[in-house]
Order: sequence, then C-alpha cells, then structure tokens
Amino acid sequence: MKIFKTIDSLQEELQTLKLEGKQLAFVPTMGALHEGHLSLILEAQQENDCVLASIYVNPTQFNDPKDLEKYPRPIEKDIRALEQLGCDYLFLPETEEIYPKGLVGPSLDLKGLDNYMEGAHRPGHFAGVVQVVHRLLDIVHPDSLYMGQKDFQQYSIIAHMLKELNIPVRLVRVAIVREADGLAMSSRNVHLSEEGRRLAPILHKTLEDLKYHYEQNPKADPRDLEQQAIKAILDSGVPSVDYLDIVNGYSLQPIQKFDETDFVVSCATIRLDGIRLLDNIILKEEQNPAYLQEQAEKQMLKDRVDALKN
Ligand code: AMP
Repeated sequence: MKIFKTIDSLQEELQTLKLEGKQLAFVPTMGALHEGHLSLILEAQQENDCVLASIYVNPTQFNDPKDLEKYPRPIEKDIRALEQLGCDYLFLPETEEIYPKGLVGPSLDLKGLDNYMEGAHRPGHFAGVVQVVHRLLDIVHPDSLYMGQKDFQQYSIIAHMLKELNIPVRLVRVAIVREADGLAMSSRNVHLSEEGRRLAPILHKTLEDLKYHYEQNPKADPRDLEQQAIKAILDSGVPSVDYLDIVNGYSLQPIQKFDETDFVVSCATIRLDGIRLLDNIILKEEQNPAYLQEQAEKQMLKDRVDALKN
C-alpha cells in the first residue's frame, strides 16, 4: 500500500490512475479501524479498480474538545489492517494540508437536515463534516465515495451536498457491521466499561423490536413506537437516551404516519459511561428505481465473488 502525507504526492499518483482510465473509490475515515470500516474498503474493492482510504481526525467536527483529545489513534495497527486487506492507497494528511490558512468551507444550505438528532445534540458537527468531506473530495476527485449507514444522518447530509453542489461522485451506502451481540461497531466502543459493554446491545435489540412492531401494525403511531422503545432502553438500565426518532429517510424530519413516505428510518443515540452510541434501522427502504437497480447489480456482483471463492 502506498502512503501519502501530502496533497501534491497523492495527486501526482492519482493523475496517473486517471490517465490509465482506472475507477477510483474513496473511503474517508478517522482511523481506529474496525471491521465496519474494513467492510467499506471491501465493498469498494469489489466495485472499483483502486481504493484510497484516508485517516484524518477532523478537529472541526468535534464540538467537545475532550472527545477530540481522547479519540483513539492506533495508526500503526490501522496501517497493518489496510495492508492486509490489500487497500491500494492511504492518505494520511496533517491539519496544515487539509486546512491551509484562509480556506473556507463550501457555502451550503443544509435545508434543516442538521436540525434534528445528532445535529441537535452536537452543534456545528455537520458543518465540520461537510467541510472536511468537501475538502477531501476536492483533493481526491474519486469516482465513488463509500460511507456507512451507521452514521445515517451524515450519509444523508453528504448525499445532499453532492446533489446541491453538483459534485459528480457516486455515493454508496454500506450496511452496518455489528459485534456478535448486535452492538454496532464503533471506534468509541473501546471506552465502554464492562457494565456499559454488557448494556450496549439493548440499543440494536430495541430498534429491531421497533421494526417488528411496525411490521405487525403499519398503522401504528410513530410517536407511540418511539416512546415504547425509549422506555425499553431506560428500563434495561441504560441511564439516558439522547433521542430515538422515526424519520423520513430523505428529509430526516419526524414522520406523522408510516404511509407518508417510502423511506423511513429510526435513528437513536444512547449514552453509556459518558460515551454516545449511535445506531439506526431502516423500517421502509427507499423505493427509488435507481437505488433498487444498484442493489440488484451489487447482489449480482456479490454472487459472482462468492461463486469465485467457492
Ligand atoms: P469514522 O472513522 O467514524 O468517521 O467512520 C468512517 C466511515 O466508516 C463512516 O462512513 C462510517 O459511517 C463508517 N462506519 C463506522 N462504523 C461502521 C460500522 N459499524 N459499520 C459500517 N460502517 C461504519
């Protein structure tokens, strides 16, 4: 794997790729890589000629300086993991490269996508995410960008940014990778105490129960299902739920009825040991024909890869 610390050296390499007509996928991360991140790389490898990962702990998206300070940074281990996977390139910039003096982020109206959920609990967070992803895309110019469903609001906001700013990049949403007991993998899980780790899987279990209740009764009131789910989490011993919302997957606004849109997601964040744990579940999948076509193609590709392995 080739590692680049400067924009100039990276762009020189990427220019050669472009001239060769190779398809480049980009997977931005903040490091402390786990299988969730690695699944983005694997999916990107299946669908592209080359994969570039980046590791950069972006200060502008942290609203809590303590969170930024204690963010894990096991860089040697991350490099080994990427090498083992056969990732082609790693971009490992310093802040001076990403934010040279005078650089400003894109001017973009988020149309309220950041009003709810994470946006309401982390003022300025999504402005920071938009700023760094926009800057990285401007450096890399990939053909496709891979992001996890785990951070659903982030994914939606980046989808909005690409559309509004006419950035010609294919955005791919990758499913959530979980521990055996259902806890969504996250770089922050390492900070959980033994008791916190024991309680944490209740979040995913409750979201699955919520989906089951919705499927049993699609006419249910979304607010009732939210309240039931919050109660189940608090009753299990988790001290606090920041939010648990059932929202329109496109606008991220709370829905009043399940039949008002084809795309419905429930997103939640709980707090354990002072750590915020995020998760979500898709209750009704986006019925957009382009998306369905993409899913069908992905499935065919996966079947071909599986057939090759066997
Ligand atoms: P981060 O390093 O936390 O900024 O995450 C980098 C990318 O990995 C983002 O697109 C995340 O949504 C994605 N990601 C993080 N955790 C998971 C997971 N458990 N499963 C799938 N994708 C994930």
